[in-house]
Amino acid sequence: MKALFLDRDGTLIVDKVYLADPAGVEIIPGVADGLRRARDLGYKLFLFTNQSGIGRGYHTLDDTLRVNARMEDLLGLGSPLFAGVCIAPEAPGQPVVYRKPSPRFILEKIEQHRLDPAQTWMVGDSAADLGAGLGAQVNVAAVRSGKLDPAALPEIAAHRIPVFEDFAAFAASLPA
Ligand SMILES: [Mg+2]
Repeated sequence: MKALFLDRDGTLIVDKVYLADPAGVEIIPGVADGLRRARDLGYKLFLFTNQSGIGRGYHTLDDTLRVNARMEDLLGLGSPLFAGVCIAPEAPGQPVVYRKPSPRFILEKIEQHRLDPAQTWMVGDSAADLGAGLGAQVNVAAVRSGKLDPAALPEIAAHRIPVFEDFAAFAASLPA
C-alpha cells in the first residue's frame, strides 16, 4: 500500500499562520485535482499538520477541526478524504509527541496500514516536514507554495530532495 503524508498550511491551503477561522481557508490552486489524481493512483492520503497555535493558546483544537472540515468541503472530494489525520498541538519547547520533525505519526501509520515506505511520500514546505519524512525513511518532496523557499533549506541539497512549484506539480509527477 502506498501513501502520501501531506502538510496542510502552505501545501494544501494558503498559509495564514495560526488560522482559526474556517472562513479563511483558501485552497491552493490545483490541489483538489492533484489529490484526486493521487487517490486514483492508489495512494492513501494522510494529513500531518503542526498546529502550535493550540499549544500556545492562540486557538483551540476545535478551531483546527473546523478549519480542516472547511478544507475538505472546499476540496469536494468526499469525506473522510484522509485515511488518518495528525494535528500536533505542541508549542515549541513543550514535550514533543507528534510535532514534526518527529516521524512518529508516519511510522505509526506505516505499521497500521502496512504502507510501503518506498512508495510513500511526505510532502511539505518546511524543514520540519522534510525532517519528518527523512526520519521515517520515506520519500520526501518540497513545495514552493508556502511561506518558506524550500530551495534554501540545507536538507534539500544534502538529501537531493525534489522541489516542486506546488502540490499540483508534485501530483502530476507521480508515475501512472
Ligand atoms: Mg507548511
